[in-house]
Amino acid sequence: MQIRDSILIIEDDNSIINLMKAVLRSNNYEVLIARTGNEALSIVSSQCPNLVVLDLGLPDMDGVEIIRKIRSWSTMPILVVSARDHEHDKVQAFDLGADDYITKPFNPLEVLARVRSQLRRYTMLGAAQIR
Ligand code: CA
Repeated sequence: MQIRDSILIIEDDNSIINLMKAVLRSNNYEVLIARTGNEALSIVSSQCPNLVVLDLGLPDMDGVEIIRKIRSWSTMPILVVSARDHEHDKVQAFDLGADDYITKPFNPLEVLARVRSQLRRYTMLGAAQIR
């Protein structure tokens, strides 16, 4: 059996969670969910997902703090999906280590394509480093 990539959705909006979960599951990804920043950080360290999809507006902390914390010890792909569409927010997220940034409202198929792209690139880089 093929090992599936796992994706952690960090998001507090249930309708968005359900939409992304459906699209990712139907494309054979294992989906993990965190509704708060603290829950997200604990899942990231305990379950090591292959990629995180991150909303910046969370109930207990700003998503940029999550980028900062993950980047202090991991290079896993971080794809931001946020309603914040100011250049400043995008620049800050990229400078802290986000790999991609999609603004809401989003097309689920575009999110899926960007997830695939990040995972492909990360897998290639990982393979290159091992050799
Ligand atoms: Ca939110």
